[in-house]
Amino acid sequence: MLTVEGLRSRYGRIEVLHGIDLDVDSGEIVTVIGANGAGKTTLLKCLSGIQPVSAGSIVFRGEAMTTVPAHRRVQRGLAQSPEGRQIFTNLTVEENLRLGAYLFADDKVDRDMQDAFAMFPILKEKRNLAAGGLSGGQQQMLAIARALMARPSCLLLDEPSMGLAPILVAQIFDVVKSMKALGVTVLLVEQNAFGALSVADRGYVMETGRITMSGPAAGLIADERIRAAYLGI
Ligand code: ATP
Repeated sequence: MLTVEGLRSRYGRIEVLHGIDLDVDSGEIVTVIGANGAGKTTLLKCLSGIQPVSAGSIVFRGEAMTTVPAHRRVQRGLAQSPEGRQIFTNLTVEENLRLGAYLFADDKVDRDMQDAFAMFPILKEKRNLAAGGLSGGQQQMLAIARALMARPSCLLLDEPSMGLAPILVAQIFDVVKSMKALGVTVLLVEQNAFGALSVADRGYVMETGRITMSGPAAGLIADERIRAAYLGI
């Protein structure tokens, strides 16, 4: 579904992605784990089209995406839930969801909203309240729900567990897992290696702008090097 080859990206003169190769098959949950500053967010920004690529290619559902503008990628079915949630705090929960569906002006938007409320009942309860009043976990759910309103076939999730209490972290990873049943393919970037590998089919390890290991998630969780470096075991 998504194939990335030799991807390089830079901030000014400093290159931070040094040739990333990665692929995601339809229906998979794939995670990219790595320490703070490894380049995970930059990679997702390149995929969603908000960070320029200096070399390499991105192909999504058979179509070259490398130079396609961000809004067109959303139209093609590639949607991102950004790091730090980036919800509109002064707007209501419902208004945030409607913004996620800005591409569509059809009756299905209301149905999609009901689906979002079925998935996240707390958002239904708070639908008319300002999103800024939600807890961190609820805001993360809103960010994911808003991305789903764009009807993506592939969802890019940047650190959804960041800053959440452990019980909410578990809930968010359950939500990620439930994307399979919805038929949504997921590329999940995470510092929480254990949580991410627990829900993923496959994983990539990123270190200072390079992929250093990859394989089935179960194999990575069991790998001594991963356990020592990322799982604290
Ligand atoms: P985090 O988990 O903190 O988001 P990350 O793995 O997502 O880390 P990136 O945010 O992609 O890493 O950062 C990769 C490198 O690029 C880091 O060295 C970072 O300091 C640098 N960097 C990120 N954003 C910018 C920017 N806007 N300008 C200059 N350098 C940047």
